[in-house]
Amino acid sequence: MEKKNIDWANLGFGYIVTDKRFVSNYRNGAWDEGGLTEDATVTISECAGVLQYAQTIFEGLKAYTTEKGETVIFRPDLNAERMEQSAKRLEMPVYPKDKFVDAIVETVRANSAYVPPYGTGATLYVRPYMFGSSEVIGVKPAQEYQFRVFTTPVGAYFKGGAKPLTIKVSDFDRAAPNGTGHIKAGLNYAMSLHAIVTAHEEGFDENMYLDPRTRTKVEETGGANFLFVTKDKKVVVPKSSSILPSITRRSLVHVAKEYLGLEVEEREVLFDEVKEFAEAGLCGTAAVISPVGKIVNHGEEICIPSGMADMGPVTKELYDTLTGIQMGRIEAPEGWIKVVE
Ligand SMILES: *Cc1c(COP(=O)(O)O)cnc(C)c1O
Repeated sequence: MEKKNIDWANLGFGYIVTDKRFVSNYRNGAWDEGGLTEDATVTISECAGVLQYAQTIFEGLKAYTTEKGETVIFRPDLNAERMEQSAKRLEMPVYPKDKFVDAIVETVRANSAYVPPYGTGATLYVRPYMFGSSEVIGVKPAQEYQFRVFTTPVGAYFKGGAKPLTIKVSDFDRAAPNGTGHIKAGLNYAMSLHAIVTAHEEGFDENMYLDPRTRTKVEETGGANFLFVTKDKKVVVPKSSSILPSITRRSLVHVAKEYLGLEVEEREVLFDEVKEFAEAGLCGTAAVISPVGKIVNHGEEICIPSGMADMGPVTKELYDTLTGIQMGRIEAPEGWIKVVE
């Protein structure tokens, strides 16, 4: 299919409407067949569950063109499984895993003119989500739900090289000890907005949230997991029941062990240890890894030895290997790459 006339190299991260999106409705205890529509708007009751009590969950993944020219998506089965966990926690119906993957494939195919060409760094961002669509006024789960998948082309995350980030240790909490930090729910983002706007006003790029119970352990940022590298090249990733299980972080752990032969520790990470690490990064679908150069705790600066100019060497190797796997330059583990067309 002929590509849209888009300046791929200068795309940012904003919503651009594409041609088709997938919609399925849940009524009387069952999902309908679902299908593609050109209607980019949603019409629901003023009293819909999502509008009153924030019953909404989402996922995020990317479709892109590999070196061979195929359009692919990365591990969508894990997005399906994670959305299932999110749905159960918010008393929403599960959208079946196979149908979830099919809906993504169908939506990407229908918008293939928006999948950026190989080498541009741009991708087609895919957003599956679900919300309570029927009326709810007394607090309870909605009776009806809508599942949708839309796509929007986004630019390369790092334009002109990855610049290490400066992070603020936040005084706000992102998740309660037995709350919803481990699921991908809109409500976790609504409550993080004040913290991130404040951090940006103070000149920081992101917040580091500590564990809400003791405020001594590293959790994550508002939308990405941490990854650290010790001075003897061990990869350390924080473990906590209130961290969102990032698919990128889980993939990087596999790459570290199986492709790079590195030792990996998934464990609680004390904030006091952070000053001992040689490298730090943030993992998520958008950037794969964003290097962290500085972490500031109430004016006290921790300068990560890898510095403010470049990614650390181990972080770079992890980044190059995983992006190589995604782009088809390095052989992928079984089942990681789903070919769309
Ligand atoms: C989505 C998300 C991530 C990153 O997950 P990926 O699956 O790697 O994209 C990390 N933390 C939070 C809070 C998130 O919502």
